[in-house]
Amino acid sequence: MLGALAFLLGVSVGSFVNVVADRLPGGRSLVRPRSFCESCNRTLTSLDLVPIVSYLWLRGRCRHCGARIPLRSPLVELFTGALFTLTYLRFGYSAETVVVCAALSVLLIVTLIDLEHGLILNVIVFPTMAALVVVAPFWSELGFARPLLGSLGMPASLFNSLIAGAGAFAIFLAIALISPEGMGAGDVKFAGVLGLMLGFPGVLFALWLAVVTGGLVAVVFLLLRKRGRKDAIPFGPFLALGAAVVLLVGADLSTGYQEFAARLPGFWA
Ligand SMILES: [Zn+2]
Repeated sequence: MLGALAFLLGVSVGSFVNVVADRLPGGRSLVRPRSFCESCNRTLTSLDLVPIVSYLWLRGRCRHCGARIPLRSPLVELFTGALFTLTYLRFGYSAETVVVCAALSVLLIVTLIDLEHGLILNVIVFPTMAALVVVAPFWSELGFARPLLGSLGMPASLFNSLIAGAGAFAIFLAIALISPEGMGAGDVKFAGVLGLMLGFPGVLFALWLAVVTGGLVAVVFLLLRKRGRKDAIPFGPFLALGAAVVLLVGADLSTGYQEFAARLPGFWA
């Protein structure tokens, strides 16, 4: 029952994710004007805006002019619904569920805008950093277990987040300085966001996963000759994927790794 509620909530948030991904890159307001058809400019009514249902009912076309509604809209709604359901199944009726759902929504927005515009916007990155610093002190049980680092009088999980954020930022800054064509300033700041979000050592796994999946996709594209070597594939979506995996299954990976390491001889563990 609550799982169905999580799905419906996710579908509605997905609808908002679409609006943010459409409007933020052009610097447009998120609340005004009301949603309108990009083709005929007519304002859409609530009947046109029921997530997923309206798309199916209208068979993917504008009621007035018949222009195609991008398939991305219902897909993002469905996907967000699935993410929220997974999060609820993982963390139950809890504050973690709320925080993880919010984090996943931000990751999805970054992914869409980076795929469509090749940008990771400051207007998303900086408020997200601020929000993560606020929740970090309460966020010790999430994802990878966070070892207690000496905490300078701060809550340990906040200190861990700050160290992880600064570390991830520094690593990516170094990579960007060495090979400026591969990595943009947006990726560097976004790596910092991941550090704050996941803490240490979770962020290392997320970055590793991003590099591996991003590298694999780049190789496949090269083999298919879809893009030239110069034509950079956006890296933000892979960072977001790595972070999402750590958010949802990080604790299991962490336990699994410890059990695995315990069986290995000496220096591996
Ligand atoms: Zn229209």
